[in-house]
Amino acid sequence: MTSSRRDSLNASSSEPLPVVIIGNGPSGICLSYLLSGHLPYVRPGAVHPYPLLQRKLAESPGVSILDQDLDYLSEGLEGRSQSPVALLFDALLRPDTDLGGNMDSVLAWKQQKERAIPHLVLGRNPPGGAWHSIEGSMVTLSQGQWMGLPDLQVKDWMRKKRRGLRNSRATAGDIAHYYRDYVTKKGLSQNFVSGAVVTAVEQETLEHDGSATQVPRPLFRVSGFLTTKNQSRQPFSLWARNVVLATGTLDSPARLGIPGETLPFVHHDLSALEAALRMGTVNSTSDPVLIVGAGLSAADAVLFAHHYNIPVIHAFRRSVHDPGLVFNQLPKMLYPEYHKVHQMMREQSILSPSPYVGYRSLPEHQPLLFKDDLQAVFRDPQGGQHLFGVSLVLVLIGSYPDLSYLPGAGTDLATDPEQPVSPKRNPIDVDPFTYESTRQEGLYALGPLAGDNFVRFVQGGALAAASSLLRKETRKPP
Ligand SMILES: Cc1cc2nc3c(=O)[nH]c(=O)nc-3n(C[C@H](O)[C@H](O)[C@H](O)COP(=O)(O)OP(=O)(O)OC[C@H]3O[C@@H](n4cnc5c(N)ncnc54)[C@H](O)[C@@H]3O)c2cc1C
Repeated sequence: MTSSRRDSLNASSSEPLPVVIIGNGPSGICLSYLLSGHLPYVRPGAVHPYPLLQRKLAESPGVSILDQDLDYLSEGLEGRSQSPVALLFDALLRPDTDLGGNMDSVLAWKQQKERAIPHLVLGRNPPGGAWHSIEGSMVTLSQGQWMGLPDLQVKDWMRKKRRGLRNSRATAGDIAHYYRDYVTKKGLSQNFVSGAVVTAVEQETLEHDGSATQVPRPLFRVSGFLTTKNQSRQPFSLWARNVVLATGTLDSPARLGIPGETLPFVHHDLSALEAALRMGTVNSTSDPVLIVGAGLSAADAVLFAHHYNIPVIHAFRRSVHDPGLVFNQLPKMLYPEYHKVHQMMREQSILSPSPYVGYRSLPEHQPLLFKDDLQAVFRDPQGGQHLFGVSLVLVLIGSYPDLSYLPGAGTDLATDPEQPVSPKRNPIDVDPFTYESTRQEGLYALGPLAGDNFVRFVQGGALAAASSLLRKETRKPP
């Protein structure tokens, strides 16, 4: 981030910005790229493999996708996302990827500075969002090419860095590095303020557009603090006509809600295991690490511990055969390491010991209590209680978005306003072709907050929001 950006935030300007984006992960970065005047056009001579889409694209040659009717273009597309615009943008960027192909994007990007919309991207961490919090050596679930942002393929970036994909997938560390580089390479740095934490977004309606008709438009005050090198906090406050919520879901780990969960040896983040390993609190001869959960983060923790020969007890609520278990949904060929974990979960249960030294699973076991003498108490499916000595506990059972910076933690914006926002069950209710909140004009939501859970698909939300913001800020094509 440039010092001038930090300075302008320090000055807490009263002049409203057209757009403030909160969150600097893939969603915020992709939107910043589009708002910086990078416009997608169909590459001359490109032919899309989907005939219906090709026919529609051919109807408006020379018109940027951002200026076309996204509803019309995306109609009839099918795929692994519920969002029509996510499917559209993905089909334009990776035309035949779901057919197993590797065809180049049908898009060509042109920078038209006169169409850029001034904006700021505020983020707690360096650009890259959640990817700076995921253990760097972990291999992504998605193929490397699905982690890329517009006009910079991950494989090309990796080649330049002399890095390689593993089984066509990248490490989380490489992906975090790629996102940071993307911001620099695409000349977006001046829009990014890292170390900026937003604590409040308040809405006011002002008659401020100066026109004769005086249509009231919402105005938002965005406040928070900047963290400085010496860890002090400098408050800031600025005004924005539009606010984009792109803060992801990684900030509030889910809790079991049982006694002892706040004891110092109980953690909710994989990095605690890495730290304990570095400090020597856990090793191959220590008591086992207890890992609670049966999702991919828990599997990553099991793999990490296994790699360092740290003994593990792995407890989870579901049966190993439950079709809802993520391992039962992943193709074996693509994810051999997760299938290894699933195999261990099945074969090395407490009831039927087998060959994996240092690993024991407790399927359908419910944690009841953690005791301060490093003991964990469980209830088995028959109601019996078991006690285990442990060196450390990792509770990895998912996370929730932290929307405490919104009035009522954003519940009013959710699809079901009676329930808290949840990416899978109760996302923020947005218009599918603009990603603007259906409840609050001027407020947009992207990524998991709007129900899009993979990097490949969060970019469609950015396209929809950019198209809407371009239209709203009345910067029509010449
Ligand atoms: C362990 C793990 C593995 C994953 N593997 C894959 C995978 O293989 N493939 C895939 O496609 N997806 C994967 N995902 C999901 C992927 O991380 C998300 O879909 C993606 O990062 C969402 O992007 P985003 O920009 O919307 O949010 P995020 O990447 O979460 O970024 C949001 C950023 O906003 C910041 N922020 C939050 N609140 C504030 C605030 N108040 N003020 C300032 N900043 C704030 C956060 O700190 C964060 O840095 C994985 C997720 C996890 C946790």
